[in-house]
Amino acid sequence: MEELNNFFKILEKKIIDNNGIIYDTYVCDRILATYYSNKYYRKKLPVNRFYDITFDYSTIDRFIKSNNIKIAFNHGIDHINFYSFITDNINIINNLNIKLDITISNDKPPFKNNNYICYGLLLSNDKEHENEFKYYYSDNTGTPLDNNANNITNKIIIDIINKRTQYIRGFYSNYDIFTDIYKMINKGWKITNMPYIINDIKENKKELNDCCPICLEKFNMSNKEIVSLYENIHRYYNSNNYRIHHHCLFKYLNMQKNNNYFKCPYRYKIDFNICKYLITYQ
Ligand SMILES: [Zn+2]
Repeated sequence: MEELNNFFKILEKKIIDNNGIIYDTYVCDRILATYYSNKYYRKKLPVNRFYDITFDYSTIDRFIKSNNIKIAFNHGIDHINFYSFITDNINIINNLNIKLDITISNDKPPFKNNNYICYGLLLSNDKEHENEFKYYYSDNTGTPLDNNANNITNKIIIDIINKRTQYIRGFYSNYDIFTDIYKMINKGWKITNMPYIINDIKENKKELNDCCPICLEKFNMSNKEIVSLYENIHRYYNSNNYRIHHHCLFKYLNMQKNNNYFKCPYRYKIDFNICKYLITYQ
């Protein structure tokens, strides 16, 4: 991990110096790493355990774990200069198992193809302001945010630090969307445009006398995450609704792989294809 993160710093500089743009997961991972490594050092935790994946879970995003990096270059000679760096360092790239995804295009990444709002954030050089680099939101995400890209960079960065984002696209079947969203959730992300509402874990549960329809445990008996399910997704607060443990619902939905859409234990339709109508663009 230490070697990977050290090499990423060199690689990143080469990309940025050659006018490349970095996009997708690496940009989010980098923002989180900057934020949480500062936290780690402020807590005065031991430097020699910085890359210890079992140490201090509260700042676990302090270093980059994924070895994928997506880069875009304009047509021209920039990418040729960059390739010679790759050739010179091919052994280390192979040893660290780094997967470079390089696109040559005059269009801006993510080429209207980002699955989540957060993956529209880009990293490149900032020669105009004499900074080494800048983060900025792409105007080529294929969403209404393209019209407001200049103004939302800071909001997106704050959302990333809080690991909060929204699903846009990428899959057709309900089960594939569900699987992809839960991949994000398992990495600690909160997806805020799901067909049900995941309640804040810190919410006071003492008053909840009802119980989970799957495991029948009373909600006030444990600290498990609770979901509110609504019969009519577009009338969130005045349609029939009930509570269920998040984990119990997940297991229940996970058994419905071959259905066109999911059904909850009370037979409400749960359709992950409507996530796109629940995105809040600001
Ligand atoms: Zn339950």
